[in-house]
Amino acid sequence: MERMYPLVSEKLPHFFHGGDYNPEQWPAEVRDADMRLMKLAHWNLATVGVFSWVSLQPAPDQWDFDWLDAVMDNLAEGGMFACLATPTAAPPAWLSHQHPASLRTDAQGRRHRHGNRVNYCPNAVAYREACAEIAGRLAERYKEHPALALWHVSNEYGGVCYCETCAGEFRRWLEAKYGSLDELNERWYTRFWSHTFTDWSQIEPPLQHGESMPALRLDYRRFNSDSLLGCYLNEARILREVTPGVPVTTNMMGAHPDMDYHTWAPHVDVVAWDSYPSVRSAPEQISFYHDLMRGLKRDRPFLLMEQTPSSQNWQAVNALKRPGQMRLWSYQAVAHGSDSVMYFQWRRGRGGHEKLHGAVVAHAGHENTRVFQEVAELGEELEKLGDAVLGSATQAKIAVIFDWQSWWTLDATSGPVRDKQYVQTLIKHYAALRERNIMVDVVSPETALEGYSAVVAPMLYMVRTEWAEKVTEFVRGGGRFVATAMTGWVDETDLAYLGGYPGALRQVLGVWVEEIDALFEDQANQIRMKQPFGPCRGEYKCGRLCELLHAEQAGVLGTYGADFYAGWPVVTENRLGEGFAYYIGTDPEQEFLVHFYRTICADCGIFPPMEGGEGIEVTLRSQKDRSFIFVLNHRDEVSFVDLGDRHYCDLLTGRTHTANVPVRGFDVRILEEVEPTPDQDAPQEKPAE
Ligand SMILES: [Zn+2]
Repeated sequence: MERMYPLVSEKLPHFFHGGDYNPEQWPAEVRDADMRLMKLAHWNLATVGVFSWVSLQPAPDQWDFDWLDAVMDNLAEGGMFACLATPTAAPPAWLSHQHPASLRTDAQGRRHRHGNRVNYCPNAVAYREACAEIAGRLAERYKEHPALALWHVSNEYGGVCYCETCAGEFRRWLEAKYGSLDELNERWYTRFWSHTFTDWSQIEPPLQHGESMPALRLDYRRFNSDSLLGCYLNEARILREVTPGVPVTTNMMGAHPDMDYHTWAPHVDVVAWDSYPSVRSAPEQISFYHDLMRGLKRDRPFLLMEQTPSSQNWQAVNALKRPGQMRLWSYQAVAHGSDSVMYFQWRRGRGGHEKLHGAVVAHAGHENTRVFQEVAELGEELEKLGDAVLGSATQAKIAVIFDWQSWWTLDATSGPVRDKQYVQTLIKHYAALRERNIMVDVVSPETALEGYSAVVAPMLYMVRTEWAEKVTEFVRGGGRFVATAMTGWVDETDLAYLGGYPGALRQVLGVWVEEIDALFEDQANQIRMKQPFGPCRGEYKCGRLCELLHAEQAGVLGTYGADFYAGWPVVTENRLGEGFAYYIGTDPEQEFLVHFYRTICADCGIFPPMEGGEGIEVTLRSQKDRSFIFVLNHRDEVSFVDLGDRHYCDLLTGRTHTANVPVRGFDVRILEEVEPTPDQDAPQEKPAE
């Protein structure tokens, strides 16, 4: 077999199965019991040290690695590996007391007291130096250790600091970006409300009781994301220097508002992320974030670093994953490109904030629990699955553009509605495609468009001129491009495009937007299709945002049904070269999007890997010479998948199937096409009653 991408770790040529392990919270006899239980759970990788700073460095000049030595040795002796974390997400109290300026300052300008976690100033020199020292010592101590498989830098970076140190760094960051104060004043449009800066020292972070101009807020978010990335790089550089062969990553958090992960992605060897949906999350809501995280490094595998084996503890209602649901969602991550199934956490702590968070080992302390058994069975199953899927690609012909920069700018903008619903809008478009099991990439605007047949950019508020040129080329060459309301309004420093929206995209879309109407929740308008666009025909509801647009070169597919702009264009199609560009000037009901994208996909010749019944999700992962179709049943009752006259082997059961195959409630099949042979014609499984 020829893998598409190399394994994350040559040391561990299996699905990573493990998770967060906090042995520093427990006496030696419990740690011994852990080793026995981890073998039973079929764990092969333990994330150790995440919050262990004070246990490793109880005082500035005092170090204690003995306990970690023993844990690393125990893992190695047990045939397991360590995802070794630097403990820098929670600095010890002595550091905060010795260097109060290393603590975070909030948007009210209050310096925090010591406590909680991720409570440091990302630009504090004392914090950065202390992080570099402990990362360096860990790297030197364990560089030759047989258990070391992966570096986990700090934990869930996030939050914003508004302190004087950050203010100074922000001014330097701005000087480097704009060169001169005149340029900054121009780009920030500071003559508004007489905000022109006459000295760099006048620029402050966007405190709640201070400056709030949109362009400043936007640049501060960029700066803060860069500052947090600086913390990551501060440690990652040292780890790479000492252990060049060990992959380095950090655990990301999906569509998190504090970091532009597209700028982080080049600096991690493998993307890793923590998935914490609610049990009420729709399958497409969960998979959107998997695809967003996979898209950080295009189609190569990522790691599911954390998920709860049962329940969370920080949501308003923390329901249990139902029996089978943890396995289903684990395979959903794999189906969307994960090469791991990992959990937070191994064992419930006796105290602290996370004592009621789900864990593989309950406070009962033994293996005879539902959750432990489900984890152990899944671990065994992943072992049997072997390495065939590892390193395979998850390729799509259609890309949805996700842009933190547009999200941030929309958030900083007053009007036309307070809640712009950027991420929700992206998920609506994504879900309309996934509803039919179309493979979708969720990628940055920087991504090369070659290889895609269609590109969807919902609410891409900020459009850079070069991007518009790239899209125009893409459409001329035969691509389909879809844009929606509030696309292309501003440039990269939040200056509105003059001459009509969608600014730089006006030519490719063939429309210009004159006004935008904001609708109250109890109001709606309609899209009236002038002629059928595939299954998209008749009338659909729309609301929230209604743009009043003029079709220039574009043809009108649908018009508004009501209000003073009844009869104005709302859905348009512009032919350019070999391709088409579509504009949807409102927020339509989901059914419209489902029908609309059916036509787009049919026109592009994009089809799902396989047709399934109700509740069935299908994805495809491919090696150079093998393909795996994942079939997941998200309902708790039996459904079916149609294999036609082809024959497929289910890698999880070893049985061969053809025609209509049942998939039990919450069950999964991983299918690989095989040649039919008479003796392979095994009877079909009966669905469970
Ligand atoms: Zn700060």
